[in-house]
Amino acid sequence: MKIELKKHFISEKMVFIGFGLAAIYWILESFLYIFSPSQVGFFEWLFGGNVGGIWTRLIVLCLFVFFGSHAQYTLDRRKRAEEALQKSEEKYRRIIESIEDGYYEVDLTGNLTFLNDPMLIILGRSRDECMGMDLFDSMDEENAVKVFKIFNNVQRTGIAVNTLDCVLTAQDGSKRHVEASVSLKKNSKGESIGFMGILRNVTERKKAEELQQAKLTAEAASRSKSEFLANMSHEIRTPLNSIIGFVEMILETDLTPEQRESLDIVMSSSYALLSVINDILDFSKIEAGKLELEETPFNLRDFLADSLKIIAAKAHQKGLDLIYRVAPDGPDGLIGDPARLRQVVLNLVGNATKFTDKGEILLSVHVEHQTDNEVLLHFAVKDTGIGIPKEKQESIFFVFQQVDGSTSRRFGGTGLGLAISRQLVKLMGGRIWLESEAGQGSTFHFTARFTLSPDAEDVFKATLDDRTHGVKVLVVDDNATYRHIIQETLKSWNMLPLVTSETGEARKMLIQAQETGSPFDLILIDSSMSDPDGLSLARWIKTQENINVKVIMMLTVLRRSQIDFQELGIQSTITKPVRSSDLLDAIQIALDGLKSLPEPEVSLKVQDRISEPVGRPLRILVAEDNLFNQKFIFRLLERWKHQVVIVANGRLAVEALSQDKFDLVLMDVQMPEMDGFEATVEIREREKRTGNHIPIIAMTAHAMKGDREHCIEAGMDAHVPKPVSATHLLEMIQKLFPAEPGDPF
Ligand code: ADP
Repeated sequence: MKIELKKHFISEKMVFIGFGLAAIYWILESFLYIFSPSQVGFFEWLFGGNVGGIWTRLIVLCLFVFFGSHAQYTLDRRKRAEEALQKSEEKYRRIIESIEDGYYEVDLTGNLTFLNDPMLIILGRSRDECMGMDLFDSMDEENAVKVFKIFNNVQRTGIAVNTLDCVLTAQDGSKRHVEASVSLKKNSKGESIGFMGILRNVTERKKAEELQQAKLTAEAASRSKSEFLANMSHEIRTPLNSIIGFVEMILETDLTPEQRESLDIVMSSSYALLSVINDILDFSKIEAGKLELEETPFNLRDFLADSLKIIAAKAHQKGLDLIYRVAPDGPDGLIGDPARLRQVVLNLVGNATKFTDKGEILLSVHVEHQTDNEVLLHFAVKDTGIGIPKEKQESIFFVFQQVDGSTSRRFGGTGLGLAISRQLVKLMGGRIWLESEAGQGSTFHFTARFTLSPDAEDVFKATLDDRTHGVKVLVVDDNATYRHIIQETLKSWNMLPLVTSETGEARKMLIQAQETGSPFDLILIDSSMSDPDGLSLARWIKTQENINVKVIMMLTVLRRSQIDFQELGIQSTITKPVRSSDLLDAIQIALDGLKSLPEPEVSLKVQDRISEPVGRPLRILVAEDNLFNQKFIFRLLERWKHQVVIVANGRLAVEALSQDKFDLVLMDVQMPEMDGFEATVEIREREKRTGNHIPIIAMTAHAMKGDREHCIEAGMDAHVPKPVSATHLLEMIQKLFPAEPGDPF
């Protein structure tokens, strides 16, 4: 109450002042009457006087009160307006301060007159440094020119701009990418006094956009690179395929030894070129993330022996022993991608063979870690070759890196093999590394993860019977590692092996065993021991009437054809590197005396010979646009006694089928006008009316994952990859048209 009165009193101050002034006037006027000639006293005039005087004074009083209250009213209004302005300014400031974006006001020359805290952060300066600072000082020349133009425009047109994009430089030199608005700031008279606007720091977003853009560009580049490589390799492989195919055909004819030798060189050079192209294609597929691993069950020990046989000829030619060993606890049945694992193994063993002149190459495998359904295997390829200096050991796992460029001329190679192996091993959940010293040989290690095959057939345990139990065996091999491995394997089959490195010693042991009444049942001899060689030991055994031991000869591939096994009294043979299941078979054959002749020769040619067809002649339509391929396939099919019609694209294939009768279509996928997929869809559509179904074999050169699926989806029955292998094609045809009784061939 008291407060309200006081407020009221204050607010009516001007009225009281009016009263006060009127009272002073009254008193002064009364005082002045003292000197007037009317002789009226002061008090008399103050409290009385004539009526006119009183009226005058009352009017003056009213006037003063009126003016006082009017003045009071005006003052109150201004005060309220000021208070409202202050409140609104306060609110506006609070809003400006609370926004995350920067807010700025500059005068017409660009000097900052006001800015909020976020703006200080964007400029990277303190408030004191910023106030009065020229905004253009925080920009480089290019940005300053751009912003200056926009400010000018806004001033000229009065139209605000919301999309100013520029870069500010903070005091520490860091760049801030900002998006800003600019509008004209006017005073109460409507005159332009500067500019103001909101400024947003979009540096992070710009960075993310740039990264995204860079990623998209890189992805596009990588895609086009791998597409280019796929196309390029197709272009190279097509004529190469024809070269290989034709040479293969010529090799089947009568040739002089020189001609055969020359053509063999053409053949092996073509395969070398093909393998380089395949490497490049593989690498680009891995880089493009397009390579996916298969999940196929396979038997580890057989896989290793089979893989090594591909390289064995080369190693034995150089006089190198090629040995593999799987630790006894190593599982047999695995699920993984054997083709890719073979690629890694062959690359490492191939390199070891290439860079080793004497000694041995040992591929060993043991379990690094195993769970109920998974195993991490550790593979090691140890050679006794030239070794790799320490400083090169990292780099050779990267593309096109070789220890010494000049060696590539001597040994061949592109420097892609290890880079591909590294990536493949990574895909298999493992890693690859190396231990080596220059001149001391190298050991390449890698690990890979596989699923354990639950129904894996354990070749040894499944086929072992009492026949091997307690069988006394003498192993004669001059390679210590080999002796050890064979001994270990035989022991695991409950046999009783003894080993020796010399044929002289072996003779003594055989005689001694005979004399002591516990003769050997079996002798395993390495045929390629250095002097005296294993064959002479076999010959000697044959002459010993009282020594009755079964002989198994371990051969290198190169020697098989030169040996007369019967003459030497050899019961059974195996080829090195020895596959455990083959060894077991050989032992059983020798003990049972079932067979005394060697198994048919293992084909070591990269591509099998063109086999002879069985069945009946077929009418085959071939849709292929490439002239070389047309000729090659024509000659091949003709040789297999089929009738062939060739067309150059899918459209012509569809037409030919509607006019003529065929048993089979070979359909290239990439063709002009109408490709193989479209043509197949069209053929299958037409067949819906007739109810017939013609088998279509696709020929694809894409070699990308999903090709097969794509072909099947389009309605094709089978798929052969290009370059077309004669054997593969023949197999495919025979699968679709199995021979029946009464067929001419
Ligand atoms: P390439 O053998 O095709 O040149 P790789 O990537 O397989 O390519 O090998 C790269 C390089 O590593 C080889 O050129 C060679 O210098 C070196 N290298 C690989 N393996 C061996 C090895 N076992 N002994 C010595 N050097 C090796």
